[in-house]
Amino acid sequence: MKAAPFDYVRAATVEEALSALSGGARVLAGGQSLVPLLNQRLVRPTTVVDVNRLDLDHLHESGSDLVLGALVRHRQVETSPLVRRRAPLLAEAMSHVGHVSVRNLGTVGGSAAHADPAAELPAVCVALDATFGVRGPGGPREIPARDFFLGPHRTALAPGELLVEVRLPRPPPRSRHAVVKLSRRHNDLALVAVVACVTVRDGVVTRARIAVAGAGPTPVRAGAAEALLVGRAPGHHAVAEAADAAADATDPPDDRHAPAAYRREMAAVLTRRALRGALGQVVAP
Ligand code: FAD
Repeated sequence: MKAAPFDYVRAATVEEALSALSGGARVLAGGQSLVPLLNQRLVRPTTVVDVNRLDLDHLHESGSDLVLGALVRHRQVETSPLVRRRAPLLAEAMSHVGHVSVRNLGTVGGSAAHADPAAELPAVCVALDATFGVRGPGGPREIPARDFFLGPHRTALAPGELLVEVRLPRPPPRSRHAVVKLSRRHNDLALVAVVACVTVRDGVVTRARIAVAGAGPTPVRAGAAEALLVGRAPGHHAVAEAADAAADATDPPDDRHAPAAYRREMAAVLTRRALRGALGQVVAP
């Protein structure tokens, strides 16, 4: 099938993109999600605004934040020494996304704006308290990740707004992380995935960040599971209780890919594995 007709605008500046983004327009970034939607006529924008020429592929530190421009490609995130040092959870999560050809084109902004509940990048952003920098007709604004994802493929971006960057705060020193993904085929979108980042000092968990993808309308931040871990020695009991609490926080879909009960069970199993991985424990089969 071919896309329905649309006007094509290749913007050279953010201002040009914003002025083209009125009415029924759509941003084109890496095209990995938008082009299939266009070809299946699941979306029929009047105008497609290609933003690939914009100066939004910066990747740098700003104060205690790591700043990723919306056009940074997944593969850049995965391989950047700066990201590996400053946000290793994100670098590892991106290595699980699709295949290299997808990662070469897919962008940080595209993955966030597409808001697939099973996607890795939104889950990491929710786990690590990222902030999204947005430009729009009303001027610039910032949206915390916890308020950004509203439902499957729904975000807090208002019509005509462009996501321009993602800011990730620095995790505490000696934090450890893990990403565990369950999918039908290697690097398909997750049935369920768990990202975790844990800090242990003097044998006690001082900070835990856990998010589950594929188990709710948005990425699920497992706050109760995190609270169960903090202040405790990271033993098997604490991990098992946290894993059950993470599963309790999910609201999985019941669809042709997997029943809700299976996804919830997997959320517990994968959280256990992620925490054991992050804590350097032996992962049980
Ligand atoms: P596009 O496809 O260009 O755009 C996606 C949507 O976001 C569109 O609605 C577009 O208008 C909007 N948009 C894009 N950029 C902006 C912006 N700056 N501001 C506002 N709106 C914007 N993802 C995973 O997370 N995990 C996987 O395992 C995975 N596997 C995949 C396997 C295959 C075979 C394919 C084709 C894709 C897969 N993906 C996966 C999706 C991939 O990560 C996409 O790259 C991503 O979802 C969209 O990024 P994009 O840059 O291609 O965006």
